[in-house]
Amino acid sequence: MILLLTNFTSNEVQMWLPLLEQALPAEQFCVYPDLPNLADIDVALVANPPAGVLATLPNLKLIQSLWAGVDALLRDATLPRDIPLARLVDPALTQAMLETVLTHVLSLHRQIPAYQAQQQAKVWQQLPQPSAAERKVAVLGLGHLGRVAAVQLKQLGFVVLGWSSRPTNLEGIQTFSGQDGLQTMLEQSEILVNLLPLTDETRGILNAQTLSYLPVGSSIINLARGAHIIEADLLAALDSGHLQHAILDVFTTEPLPTDHLFWHHPQITVLPHVAAATNPITAAKVVATNVLRLRSGQPLEHVVDRTRGY
Ligand code: NAP
Repeated sequence: MILLLTNFTSNEVQMWLPLLEQALPAEQFCVYPDLPNLADIDVALVANPPAGVLATLPNLKLIQSLWAGVDALLRDATLPRDIPLARLVDPALTQAMLETVLTHVLSLHRQIPAYQAQQQAKVWQQLPQPSAAERKVAVLGLGHLGRVAAVQLKQLGFVVLGWSSRPTNLEGIQTFSGQDGLQTMLEQSEILVNLLPLTDETRGILNAQTLSYLPVGSSIINLARGAHIIEADLLAALDSGHLQHAILDVFTTEPLPTDHLFWHHPQITVLPHVAAATNPITAAKVVATNVLRLRSGQPLEHVVDRTRGY
């Protein structure tokens, strides 16, 4: 039996359940907190699950996240350590993230935030307009999301750089890894896109030191997790003029508190965590694939490496 273990509203459950039942017609479903015999549950589909429930399921074989990021799940000390945890890798979500990356890179490249500020001040001034081939865009994280973004930015004509944990080759893209690689890449990054998972290694990775490596006048786009950035260090880098602009989709505290400095900062664009939402229509099919793999004894897809944290 499959348990839907989430913090979804009843409307959201009413949206997900028929899609899951359609994708897995041979399965029985239950929805937390309406639990049958706990021993009957062998799959849990989770999204912000209440802490402790997974540990009470004696025959669990798969924890399947309905979100792409699993950092919050991994921080839950009650999460069973020996049950495979799979994250959501959905081509529709990757496409949504690609659209978001292209939107904001092009916006910064074509100086839209600067023109918006000029409009506020009724200033008519044409700013320099370098071509994409003269603009260096760097992507932190070359996984399912970062890789596609990097390739498409290259297609648009940008000079693209990318950083991953392990050395990797991507045609036409300058790739870097490790701490030395990070500094070398940041020193060239005019527009920096963050698509890293949040792990012990990447928490606070954008701090006073790493931001100082960026060229004067560069901008950042954070679409991954708020805790990747030390907020005070970002504010200092913007206020000093070292950084030009920050487009932020994610924050240490969400929703962003109403008294937070970011809301009114002229060099910050605030977005309410909308870079790439899970689409239940496509995600239900992706989730079903992994459940069917479990049932037929095939290897599960997108299982999180607990030692790496992603
Ligand atoms: P992924 O496929 O797991 O890729 C992660 C990438 O980051 C890999 O290239 C990995 O390197 C690299 N990496 C991890 N730790 C590193 C480190 N310490 N140093 C250097 N590189 C490191 O993840 P994904 O599917 O692309 O998703 C990335 C993140 O996007 C998610 O974890 C989530 O937080 C975020 N996200 C945000 C939204 C939103 O709406 N804002 C939506 C979806 C996802 P290797 O290739 O060497 O392993």
